[in-house]
Amino acid sequence: MWIVPERVIADLMTREAAFDAVEQVFAAMAAGAARNFPVVREALGHEDALYGFKGGFDGAGQVLGLKAGGYWPHNMDRRGLINHQSTVFLFDPDTGQPTAMVGGNLLTALRTAAASSVSIRHLARPDARVLGMIGAGHQATFQLRAALEQRPFEKVIAWNRSATRLDSLRVVAEEAGVPFESVPLEGMREADVIVTITSSFAPTLMAEHVSPGCHLACMGTDTKGKQEVETALLMRATVFTDEVAQSVTIGEAQHAVAQGLIAQTDIIEIGAVINGTHPGRVSDTQITLFDGTGVGLQDLAAASAVVDRAIAQGIAIEVEF
Ligand code: NAD
Repeated sequence: MWIVPERVIADLMTREAAFDAVEQVFAAMAAGAARNFPVVREALGHEDALYGFKGGFDGAGQVLGLKAGGYWPHNMDRRGLINHQSTVFLFDPDTGQPTAMVGGNLLTALRTAAASSVSIRHLARPDARVLGMIGAGHQATFQLRAALEQRPFEKVIAWNRSATRLDSLRVVAEEAGVPFESVPLEGMREADVIVTITSSFAPTLMAEHVSPGCHLACMGTDTKGKQEVETALLMRATVFTDEVAQSVTIGEAQHAVAQGLIAQTDIIEIGAVINGTHPGRVSDTQITLFDGTGVGLQDLAAASAVVDRAIAQGIAIEVEF
């Protein structure tokens, strides 16, 4: 069995490798070759922590396993540790024996950024030049770096509830040589692509803030009750997702579906676009919206890619088990 500790992941995993792993597993899901298992997420009644498991089996990639972890809100204040903690465990699908244990913290950020990037690659207009960012928390810089690689963006515009936090995004944009501007929400009308990555429980981005032809990657809503964009936007858009079952229960589409504004059957798995069984964007004025809910198979695909790289580079630790 191999161990790949959290501390080596930053040097091992590239955005390209995460992109490829996530794109492949979305394709396998849509083809019916990979499936996620029901998610377990429980309040521990200890340290105010939320803990759970996201697992699945990718029959195409032959990857079986789970991510265990959650959110410990006092970690940073009390112990100097990051609040989100997770570890991925992989198993041999032929025998059930454990094959690897992999640090999952950085991988979670990379696989989440990879998901929105996959959506931009497949759904944004080819001539998209202005990238909009809503949110400036921990995930946002990962999202921005990955999104910038998908089109020759000429400007980044961004909004956050607290504008002072936008400096972290400004640094990333300017490092990439792309001009950066802080804008009010109305300024998002200029954007060709918008990534939303907030933990909001009420809509921030309204339908009137989005222009025809825009592609949105809504990445922050991963829990029942969260919401980043007005439901009217989902009615105007063609809605894509990683997994329909999660989209309608814990994703951005949960509200529009519950209110009967769109139907579950209106939502398309992005893997179908990757596989060429759905045309994706069909006009320059269509609004496309990717509801990225975050599936366990993304974690397993990213972890599996990391294990391969760690073994090839002699960094993985082998243990008798
Ligand atoms: P964070 O706590 O570091 O940052 C939160 C961000 O949300 C900040 O920009 C904050 O200003 C903004 N925000 C909070 N409440 C808001 C409100 N009411 N209105 C507008 N903005 C508000 O969080 P993070 O680690 O960057 O994660 C952001 C979100 O992404 C979380 O909801 C998290 O659960 C989710 N997430 C999704 C996936 C996925 O696969 N889809 C993966 C990881 C994290």
